[in-house]
Amino acid sequence: TPPERIRNFCIIAHIDHGKSTLADRMLQETGVVDQRQMRAQYLDRMDIERERGITIKSQAVRMPWSAPEGATGGLSTYVLNMIDTPGHVDFTYEVSRSLAACEGAVLLVDAAQGIEAQTLANLYLAMENDLTIIPVLNKIDLPSAQPEKYAEEIAGLIGCDVGDVLRVSGKTGEGVPELLDRIVELIPAPTGDADAPARAMIFDSVYDTYRGVVTYVRVIDGSLSPRERIAMMSTKATHELLEIGVSSPEPAPSKGLGVGEVGYLITGVKDVRQSKVGDTVTTLGRMATQALGGYKEPRPMVFSGLYPIDGSDYPILRDALDKLKLNDAALVYEPETSAALGFGFRVGFLGMLHLEIVRERLEREFNLDLISTLPNVGYEVEMDDGTVVDVTNPSEFPAGRIASITEPVVRATILAPSEYIGAIMELCQTRRGTLRGMDYLSPERVEMRYTLPLAEIVFDFFDALKSRTRGFASLDYEPDGVQVADLVKVDILLQGDTVDAFSAIVHKDKAYAYGVQMAGKLKELIPRQQFEVPVQAAIGARVIARETIRAIRKDVLAKCYGGDISRKRKLLEKQKEGKKRMKMVGSVEVPQEAFIAALSQD
Ligand code: GDP
Ligand code: MG
Repeated sequence: TPPERIRNFCIIAHIDHGKSTLADRMLQETGVVDQRQMRAQYLDRMDIERERGITIKSQAVRMPWSAPEGATGGLSTYVLNMIDTPGHVDFTYEVSRSLAACEGAVLLVDAAQGIEAQTLANLYLAMENDLTIIPVLNKIDLPSAQPEKYAEEIAGLIGCDVGDVLRVSGKTGEGVPELLDRIVELIPAPTGDADAPARAMIFDSVYDTYRGVVTYVRVIDGSLSPRERIAMMSTKATHELLEIGVSSPEPAPSKGLGVGEVGYLITGVKDVRQSKVGDTVTTLGRMATQALGGYKEPRPMVFSGLYPIDGSDYPILRDALDKLKLNDAALVYEPETSAALGFGFRVGFLGMLHLEIVRERLEREFNLDLISTLPNVGYEVEMDDGTVVDVTNPSEFPAGRIASITEPVVRATILAPSEYIGAIMELCQTRRGTLRGMDYLSPERVEMRYTLPLAEIVFDFFDALKSRTRGFASLDYEPDGVQVADLVKVDILLQGDTVDAFSAIVHKDKAYAYGVQMAGKLKELIPRQQFEVPVQAAIGARVIARETIRAIRKDVLAKCYGGDISRKRKLLEKQKEGKKRMKMVGSVEVPQEAFIAALSQD
């Protein structure tokens, strides 16, 4: 297809504003999926995506569309490539690469809700990438829709006329053909040098059991054809192109991809790490000299220990992680042992949603019961002697004289009704936030921008925000470098022995609260022993909180005096069962359940 007949676009929307429904409707309207094959959320592949209503991986689908030609009014057929983008803060980088593959974006806003933080963040990203924005209000069939009000909000935000805001319903299909026409009319055709060495940008790569890694690309310059040898510019790795094609939406092999086209490549590699999002594909025969900009290595931001509750599941967990890794270039892990929890892995994630998704998949697809330690972010500790230690696990926190510690911070955007400004400021204050700016979208709605430590967001920030704003606030954030902070490691000790799984790196002002809370929890959860057990919280050698588990007076058999022998035996038997799940911390016996209960957040 010649570039003038191609339009590449994505849809930017807040969760639940109707992106999947509109995408489904476009598939139907353009005839690529007929009524019979249609199922809801056609493009969301994984069960977990459908259930949670989020997109984890990007998607691309090619649709033919006949639109009126400007002057003559006759119809011509165009190729529309819709690139779906992940809809969550953890995947900002993936979103930025999907946007970079497009010339335009449909800004989709629920006509009963208005713009939310996530929409705003992605809109800013799209504007930075110079995309043409087509503003659209969705769900106009709803009785509660307020299209006039929200059209004004959007027009004010992107600087267009209120009349330019399209109105559609993904549900009834109203306005969808007009939207497709508008895409052809307004979004620029791709431009590129057809005679230059090939350069294609990878915006997604997915592992498929049958086909191996399927790499989704947008060709910028030149062309790619089957059987050609290609090279990845970041790693210089070379592969043969076994198959090349387009999704429409089922994969269909093609004779090649030219300037502006979007499609998939299959090379037989088995690991998405060999085909990285953002990397540039070129041909070995005629190599491009300069890679496309914007490529970044995936970098884990949040770390947590993952342990099987049943220790004998450890090999299953290891195999499961190896499998997930094939399809998840951002997932990193290494074996770790804990006195309290046994054998497990320290796993690095892009963020909290990524963590939840991985954990849920491990439990669901591999049938594992897991316990995770409190998530932490990565720190850089500079010692007095100038050495620098990277800390992704509290146990790696160095002893000795520390010069400074840095922690990652994020730039957060919060959108809420203006009556909650006070409540939000108060929350951000307690989370060590700095207000960076505030704008009114309308007299009733405000956008607040904060710099916040990532560690404070990881810890139930979103829940706290929701509860203080009766669910009306939305949040988005992106990494924004690091800052120096006054941080300490708090250890929890049972009878003088550190319980590794409970060590945490926290701000100095919060150390006491953390210590008191954890010591109190463990005191409640750990059964009495034959002797008194002190539970302490300490920073280095300095104890900051203390509780005591008092000794038991009677042993278990005492209850059975006068009872029959078989009952006593049963009780002993049962105790032995329980022993298997007991962990020793120094001389203190702790049922594993106690650790699990203490680690699960209330
Ligand atoms: P996504 O999270 O942006 O992909 O949103 P979905 O497409 O999954 O839609 C979220 C919810 O809104 C679903 O319950 C849809 O049925 C509903 N929905 C989507 N579009 C419309 C629409 O145009 N009108 C109405 N009434 N409901 C819609
Ligand atoms: Mg969706």
